[in-house]
Amino acid sequence: MKFATKLLHAPSKLSDPYEAMATPIYQTATFAQEHADSFGSFDYSRSGNPTRAILEEQVAALEHGTHGYAFASGMAALAALMRLLRPGDEVLADWDVYGGTSRLLASSLERANIRVHYANATDTTSFASSITSSTRLILLESPTNPLLRILDLQAIANIAKAAGCLFAVDNSTLSPYLQNPLELGADLVIHSATKYLGGHSDVTGGLILVKAEKLAKEIAFIQNSEGSALGPFDSFLILRGLKTLKLRMDAQQQNAMKIAEYLSHRYEVHYPGLTTHPGHDIQLRQARGFGSVLSFRAKTVEQAKRVTENTKLFKIAVSFGSVHSTISMPSAMSHASVPADLREARGIPAELVRLSIGAEDAEDLIEDLERSLQ
Ligand code: PLP
Repeated sequence: MKFATKLLHAPSKLSDPYEAMATPIYQTATFAQEHADSFGSFDYSRSGNPTRAILEEQVAALEHGTHGYAFASGMAALAALMRLLRPGDEVLADWDVYGGTSRLLASSLERANIRVHYANATDTTSFASSITSSTRLILLESPTNPLLRILDLQAIANIAKAAGCLFAVDNSTLSPYLQNPLELGADLVIHSATKYLGGHSDVTGGLILVKAEKLAKEIAFIQNSEGSALGPFDSFLILRGLKTLKLRMDAQQQNAMKIAEYLSHRYEVHYPGLTTHPGHDIQLRQARGFGSVLSFRAKTVEQAKRVTENTKLFKIAVSFGSVHSTISMPSAMSHASVPADLREARGIPAELVRLSIGAEDAEDLIEDLERSLQ
């Protein structure tokens, strides 16, 4: 089956006697058992719930994995990933991971005596030299956010394999429609399902997808023992969002390309769909598209603030991947906690404006930007 069909005809091991077209919401905490000494398929929703199981199975298949685990948010999924580590282990992350991920790495991991090192993963040789004998996990996103840097996932997978460490890719900025890191050698894929999988800014959720039995068992154990799994209604909302993932993504990235081209006449634009982007060729090799997040450098901080505050269709909001367009100033919002000199060194100037392009009409979006940039 092709991707669009897979979204609408997900094969499922679960049988529904009424053949409901929409996935039923099993809003129940417990399931009655036939016998005292056997549990049946489901016994308690923290351990497993049919609505959640259908979501987990579908996203695992879309990511070419064998097992999926759904969590209450992308951060809950990332926190579960960190539970694979032990005191003394080290994490090697790319410079440009989501601010919430850096916060998680800095706070809870430090307390558990797990160290994190950051290196620029666009330079794979120097990134590899940051691996130590204690590195147990390499974690990154591609494209990165807000700079849309493209990291060579296959090259980094080879580096991780040679060093004997796990390789996890946060695939939230592209979704399984456009990129499948497990196929490129990653051990684990993480999603903030709050982004493109849900797609409508109406639910938070996260997923971990794997294809190794041993890792699957470990994540299942963490999900059950820590109780951070996604609820049935939220699972239903993400399942509903998934049906239109391809339609939304096609429309949104088409809009993004038009807006990137429009802005590139006057501003420095970060969008891997532009042939001038330094990661364009790697992106063509490892993905099937460019997504709908982009950023550009306004002429001054005042102009950046003005455009962020004056646009009418672009709402000032964190997050991305929704059908609604959003605008943000990373230096004042998502990256405000990063010291200014470090932000500048990593290429996040105060004038940077990030856009998440939605499914509105591109002409209206360009008109909104044009008016606010003047
Ligand atoms: N990963 C990335 C790349 C993100 O941008 C975010 C949130 O913005 C997260 C993970 C965290 O996801 P959530 O907000 O669903 O907890």
